[in-house]
Amino acid sequence: MGTPGLTGAGTGTRGATATRTGRHALHTDLHIGGHATATDARFPVCDPATGTVIAEVADGTADDAVRAVAAAHEAGTRWAATSPRRRSELLLAAFGLLQDRAEELAALITRESGKALSDARAEVRYAAEFFRWYAEEAVRAAGSLVPAPAGGHRILVQHRPVGVCALVTPWNFPAAMATRKLAPALAAGCTAVLKPASDAPLTALCVAALLERAGVPPGVVNVVPSRRPGEVVGALLRDPRVRKLSFTGSTEVGRLLLREAAEGVLNVSMELGGNAPFLVFADADLDAAVAGAVLAKTRNAGQACTAANRFYVQAPVAGEFGRRLATRMAALTVGPGHAEGTDIGPLINAAAVAKADRLVASAVASGARALTGGARPSGPGCFYPPTVLADVPPGAPILAEEIFAPVAPIVPFDREEEAVRHANATDMGLVSYVYTGDLARALRLTGLLEAGMVGVNRGLVSEPAAPFGGVKQSGIGREGGHDGLLDYLETQYTAVDW
Ligand code: NAD
Repeated sequence: MGTPGLTGAGTGTRGATATRTGRHALHTDLHIGGHATATDARFPVCDPATGTVIAEVADGTADDAVRAVAAAHEAGTRWAATSPRRRSELLLAAFGLLQDRAEELAALITRESGKALSDARAEVRYAAEFFRWYAEEAVRAAGSLVPAPAGGHRILVQHRPVGVCALVTPWNFPAAMATRKLAPALAAGCTAVLKPASDAPLTALCVAALLERAGVPPGVVNVVPSRRPGEVVGALLRDPRVRKLSFTGSTEVGRLLLREAAEGVLNVSMELGGNAPFLVFADADLDAAVAGAVLAKTRNAGQACTAANRFYVQAPVAGEFGRRLATRMAALTVGPGHAEGTDIGPLINAAAVAKADRLVASAVASGARALTGGARPSGPGCFYPPTVLADVPPGAPILAEEIFAPVAPIVPFDREEEAVRHANATDMGLVSYVYTGDLARALRLTGLLEAGMVGVNRGLVSEPAAPFGGVKQSGIGREGGHDGLLDYLETQYTAVDW
């Protein structure tokens, strides 16, 4: 495609602003009812590698949010009545378009989020798979009919679309977090208003355009970027036509939105923060554990909710694991995401660099040793070097926060019980990683670790066909797999006497 933006999308453009960024001519407006609608107020989106402004995006307001809800509501009845087979075909067409345009979408993701092109390409593949998976799921919304135990009547159970959904996404996976919500919502027969993160709103606009180019009717997917998220999301949640909130982001904001959603007793799905422990036992294949650690730590420069945040390594192999991990991490190329060969792009903004710096400095002050990295480089761009910290004391603050940077703190442990205690000593419960050669131990640990997902001898759990989500303060509900569809369906029971 000539542009990965909104050009040619929907039924027309009203006051559209085209911003040329390299090869891309992007529409950067609100996307409501199939129209790209310009606003007077706009906000800048910056390339984190250089700080350069790459686009000025429409700054949506509460009124815009209400107009988007109206469009989604109006489109809702017809979309819900569209046959599952047709919805499936449209999602499959969107899967094809995303694949055809993968390279351009990856370039856009890299420009606005900073991530390495290799990460952006992987994200596009992952994002596209949600369209394929839910194209397949759209035609499998099963119900049931059973006799009541006492006889006399029957119990008919059917599933109906929840209705208009407010979808709120973070900047770290701007394509995949959008498709992970849009694909099941559309498969279920729901319509949506998507509020992407203001750091990276362009990809979401592009995804909405691709869906419409695939044939999804105007109004089914609406996008309202804004740098006033509280105002826009608040308006969405107060609108009685909105029946669901699906949020991906920090636990802090999630908690706030849960309170707001309580007012209208909304159906909620919350994909929140993580603080993943990565357990390595002395009986593990150390090469595999190091490879898994590099993947779990450095994907997206460590800016993933599933990022390994705390490494607990059994004492006999802790030194060797740390040395090998440091060697592998030190060999990674840090640079602008768009440069071929870059493994680690910049962090999203200066505040993220300052946070990594603060956490590393406090760990070192409490006795940890930097085996590689450990200090932010001078010069432009929001870069932070791959860092491995050995001998981190179990109570160090760096273990209590989501680091969101390529920093790996290692804590040695002696016994399995101790590792489990450390792993569970957090309010979060998204994912845990376990490396061991003992399958019985691995399975025992899946029952002991407080996590919605466990990677056994694997550093990557994200998979469109699997139910992704957390326990404790990491979230409510699941995205992906068959469970992901259920999150957009209401169960209706009918007592039938015939
Ligand atoms: P964030 O919570 O700051 O923002 C997420 C979204 O909420 C954005 O669209 C933002 O504009 C919006 N928002 C912010 N403040 C708001 C408010 N007061 N009212 C309404 N909306 C508001 O998170 P982030 O920095 O964009 O993303 C990083 C966080 O997301 C990390 O904690 C990470 O673990 C989490 N995350 C979780 C998953 C998961 O699947 N569990 C996936 C990716 C990211």
